[in-house]
Amino acid sequence: MKALWSIRLRLTLWYVVLLAAILAAFSTGIYLTLRHNLSANLDDSLRNRAGILLDIVRYENDRPTLEGLVSPADPNVGEHFVRVFDADGAVTFDNSAQAGQPPVDRERIERALSGKSSTGSLHTDDDTMRVLAVPIQRSGEISGVLEVGLSDEDISETLRTLLLILAVAYPTTLAVASLGGVFLASRALAPIDRITRLARRISGEDLSQRLDLALPADEVGRLARTFNDMIGRLDAAFRRQRQFTADASHELRTPLTAIKGQVEVALSRPRGADAYRDILSGVNEEVDRLIRLVGSLLTLARADAGEIPIAWESVNLGDLVTSAVNQVRPAATRKEITIGLEERADATLQADEDLLLQLLLNLLDNALKHTPSGGQVTVGWDTDADAVRFWVGDTGIGIATEHLDRIFDRFYRVDKGRSRAEGGVGLGLSISRWIAEAHGGSISVDSSPGRGATFTVVLPHAADRAAS
Ligand code: ADP
Repeated sequence: MKALWSIRLRLTLWYVVLLAAILAAFSTGIYLTLRHNLSANLDDSLRNRAGILLDIVRYENDRPTLEGLVSPADPNVGEHFVRVFDADGAVTFDNSAQAGQPPVDRERIERALSGKSSTGSLHTDDDTMRVLAVPIQRSGEISGVLEVGLSDEDISETLRTLLLILAVAYPTTLAVASLGGVFLASRALAPIDRITRLARRISGEDLSQRLDLALPADEVGRLARTFNDMIGRLDAAFRRQRQFTADASHELRTPLTAIKGQVEVALSRPRGADAYRDILSGVNEEVDRLIRLVGSLLTLARADAGEIPIAWESVNLGDLVTSAVNQVRPAATRKEITIGLEERADATLQADEDLLLQLLLNLLDNALKHTPSGGQVTVGWDTDADAVRFWVGDTGIGIATEHLDRIFDRFYRVDKGRSRAEGGVGLGLSISRWIAEAHGGSISVDSSPGRGATFTVVLPHAADRAAS
């Protein structure tokens, strides 16, 4: 909640700071534009006024004047004035008394006398006047200066009003926008709040719950869905883990119960040496099974933990198959099963030789276990540009379609009793699949009941080692 609040706060703060900057730039722009336009208008008015007055200037003793031409009874008197100077800069007409008698800017008058018009500001006691001084021309000669002034009180008033409006509108807009920002941020973050509350309800023990949210496919909706998918994967992983522990305990208990039974039989009464030997060899078989089971469990546990390093080296598949076949040949001969080789190409790949040998032995062992006497087991290999393929086929009992997907699962056996009788613990194919995948490859089976089974392993020539 605290973090959520801080996101909300941060969002709002950013929003307000940005808005404050934009509003400040906008207000400054409006103010400066208006001031510039109003000043330009005032200067235009001054120029118009000067143009009209220049046309009616008359001369008294060769000195320009407007005496008797400009009415003193102007309704807006006080807001403007006219002064006329002769060629020496002496005043010949002045009606600025009511406009507060602005001081004469000698420099501007001199400049006008030298032929250059100029504008500027003059301050009276209670006003500021915008003034324009223009030279008066008589037959090409500068005969004096006309100075017109207009009060810029209106401009200052307008600008003051604008400033007042901005001073009120700026903080008000910011305050309203901040409230809007808080509201929007809260609205946008509300689903996250709901997700947090729901997620808190999903406990480690019960991962079957999901974030049941009718959210649109936006960022938050995607977050909730990703979260749901993650819980789904965790749920499946925990289920597998629980199932594995239950299956492993069960598998461990079976041989232990058998050992216990045989030991109790041995202890029930004194027996002869042969009877003890029989019992001990039975116990020995169960201990062998336990050792195999614990060995397989350990392999899988270390594989799951990523603790089995892959010793990559160049492996010749032909040599590897020969070595595996040689190891199982005595068992095959005992069962009168022939093993045939089907080499289609000379294949070499980067792999862990020991692990590949274990994989091959698992497949050969299964093939021999599930093929009756007189049957045939075939091992073949092939290669193409991308991968190496090898397969172990048999003419045995085969596997029904409904089991094909599951035989690679841990502890899954089609016929539990039969598998146990033959020493199987139901982990061989799980380990085989892990070995294939650790090499960046895959394992698959093709089989139908009564028509044998063929397990095919596909491995890339050089797996991406970082992935394994
Ligand atoms: P197990 O220790 O039982 O052999 P595996 O994981 O190696 O365990 O095999 C799982 C199950 O797949 C076996 O119990 C068996 O039912 C079936 N299976 C494996 N290989 C073959 C095969 N070549 N022919 C028929 N069934 C097979």
